[in-house]
Amino acid sequence: SLPHKLIHKSARPRSTAGHTVLVTGASGFVGTHVSLALKRRGDGVLGLDNFNQYYDPALKRARQKFLEKAGIFIVEGDINDKDLLQQLFDAVLFTHVMHLAAQAGVRYAMQNPGSYIHSNIAGFVNLLEVSKSASPQPAIIWASSSSVYGLNSKVPFSEKDRTDQPASLYAATKKAGEEIAHTYNHIYGLSITGLRFFTVYGPWGRPDMAYFFFTRDIMKGKTITLYESPDKGSVARDFTYIDDVVKGCLGALDTAKKSTGSGGKKRGPAQFRIFNLGNTSPVPVSRLVSILEKILKVKAKKKVVPLPRNGDVEFTHANISLAVRELGYKPTTDLEAGLKKFVRWYLGFYLGSKKSSW
Ligand code: NAD
Repeated sequence: SLPHKLIHKSARPRSTAGHTVLVTGASGFVGTHVSLALKRRGDGVLGLDNFNQYYDPALKRARQKFLEKAGIFIVEGDINDKDLLQQLFDAVLFTHVMHLAAQAGVRYAMQNPGSYIHSNIAGFVNLLEVSKSASPQPAIIWASSSSVYGLNSKVPFSEKDRTDQPASLYAATKKAGEEIAHTYNHIYGLSITGLRFFTVYGPWGRPDMAYFFFTRDIMKGKTITLYESPDKGSVARDFTYIDDVVKGCLGALDTAKKSTGSGGKKRGPAQFRIFNLGNTSPVPVSRLVSILEKILKVKAKKKVVPLPRNGDVEFTHANISLAVRELGYKPTTDLEAGLKKFVRWYLGFYLGSKKSSW
């Protein structure tokens, strides 16, 4: 049965701007920021998250509290729970689903492959099943990943490039998600937009990501490990600041066409789109570390090792011209400015030295 609070009218999402959005993975890093941005501009938002234990559960609960203060309620449940999803869709007329729930992280896939199948494949299919039967169908906007480019070495990565050489099970499930989504667009006319995020970072970020644990370990005086590829030097990432990604997500939502309804027979299938949301400026991880050293005013103890086959790729670099043209996407935060904001949040949140100003 539905959580008591949802049945209560006050927890129902209220929209003054026309959109009513189900945000899955709302207590996650990106989900928190996207939910808040939608709410702030007047859209109705309902969150859904299973609060899995992949990383610090206290961080997820803190994000939840933060969202609750802004009037956003998160239903605790799994996207594999069809009854729960059905009840949510019966209770609320969603115009959009912002699907950000997933098992993230490339390395953890070697420890727990099943959770990637559960959330990124089975759970996604379940969500699409319920969405395609809703009347009217919501437009789906969901997170794919730059990892789908895998071992592709043609840079920058553009949406038409090959994605048939994934380097991790995580990447394989994201790629599968794109193909699964395409079938739901083709058969049922669901309007679907996939966003390939490139290493998103910022306040409320994920403790399993390098910029986050480097910050923690540098401050603790612990040695950090940097990967280097034999021919290309330091591993590089197209780090993209969270606020920029959020704007891209909102742009995708605002330009999503309404679904054509069941089967999409009358007006032909609704749109199926895939966009890169990156920053177009890859930064070697060694440079990430020197920026952190400068901000933290601490010298890092580092060890450089050859890149192991653990799911990580050597570099990522987005061509974003499609998102610029179609979504009005325009990243504006450089890595140093973004990391300063992250570190300020981190110190406030974990060390209580300052109240988080975010
Ligand atoms: P996150 O782990 O912080 O957020 C995902 C949230 O989904 C978590 O709160 C988790 O509890 C929830 N969740 C997981 N499985 C679920 C399930 N079966 N049912 C309900 N909730 C579930 O990750 P994030 O960084 O916010 O990522 C958001 C999305 O963006 C994910 O799809 C991720 O794969 C994708 N992505 C993120 C990045 C990045 O750099 N952060 C890069 C590429 C893609």
